[in-house]
Amino acid sequence: MGSDSSVRRLSTGDNAVDPRPPHPLEEHVSVVVTGATGQLGRLIVESLVARGVPAAEITATGRSIDKIADLAAGGVTVVASDYDDPASLDAAFAGADVLVLVSASEIGQRLPQHQNAIDSALRAGVGRIVYTSIPRADSTPMILAQEHRATEAAIIASGLPYTFVRNAWYVENYTPQFPTYLEHGIVGAAGDGRVSLATRADYAEAAAVVASTDGHVNAVYELGGDSLTLAELAVLVGDAAGTPVAYTDVDEATLTGILVNAAGFPEPVAAVFADVDSRIKAGDLHVTSGDLERLIGHAPESAADSVKAAIAAL
Ligand code: NDP
Repeated sequence: MGSDSSVRRLSTGDNAVDPRPPHPLEEHVSVVVTGATGQLGRLIVESLVARGVPAAEITATGRSIDKIADLAAGGVTVVASDYDDPASLDAAFAGADVLVLVSASEIGQRLPQHQNAIDSALRAGVGRIVYTSIPRADSTPMILAQEHRATEAAIIASGLPYTFVRNAWYVENYTPQFPTYLEHGIVGAAGDGRVSLATRADYAEAAAVVASTDGHVNAVYELGGDSLTLAELAVLVGDAAGTPVAYTDVDEATLTGILVNAAGFPEPVAAVFADVDSRIKAGDLHVTSGDLERLIGHAPESAADSVKAAIAAL
């Protein structure tokens, strides 16, 4: 690990892009990535390799490691681990300078699982934890943010150096729903609130940058690309498809009911999704920091391009 100042930085709102070459690689950094059997984690591993981190210095971990046999074939060390099995985490994290802790996926189970990872990182002598969080994790009442807030607090309490990459919304949260949008329009409860979107690939590149370069100790980055209202998203989808797509705004309780009755979600899941829209309405997923572009050294993919690509793939 290289040395670093220990200033906890928050997004400044300054959108200027640093003209210097972005973030030269730290020498001899070894990185372990959790969730590497999933979509974001795999992209983080691929981005580390693309940035020049030797495959031999990267460990990719998750439960279903059959999904990442190709990474193993490329020289990445692949170790099976389960957040609920501390010994398996110890084995995966041993010797790593940096742990990229991709937030786990079972809502309600994530804090104890993340705590297991933090405890294991301490035992393994990991030098820094990079954690994928959510914007305003320390202040938003968004239901989904609660485990992120508690995890950030647990990481800080551990005393380990950390970097929080607070990812706003994946554009891929919306793209699988485009056929539905084309048939029924978009129904939401986000009002005129803006949601900042970026591809998983761009968020992954940012995580790879902060994991493999100096200058990010105890830093907090709020990451997002283009910021749209859901009405603007409807226009983008309609323009790309060549057919109008309407946006209908309803209140949170109505949206919950629609998600239960029309989309078939269990009520607690529907309530979480509807709560996201309410928090978008309140501005909690609107990121204006410029951190994503600054970290990756180029403009993130535009929402218009992401939408066009997803429509073209239908
Ligand atoms: P995926 O569902 O594709 O990947 C989740 C990863 O978590 C998998 O690699 C899975 O591995 C791993 N995982 C889950 N449970 C365990 C466990 N008990 N032990 C070890 N590993 C486990 O999600 P994404 O890659 O798309 O997203 C990554 C994370 O980002 C999500 O888990 C979620 O916290 C968050 N997220 C953020 C969104 C946003 O818009 N900002 C949207 C959606 C999710 P395996 O099953 O092989 O063990």
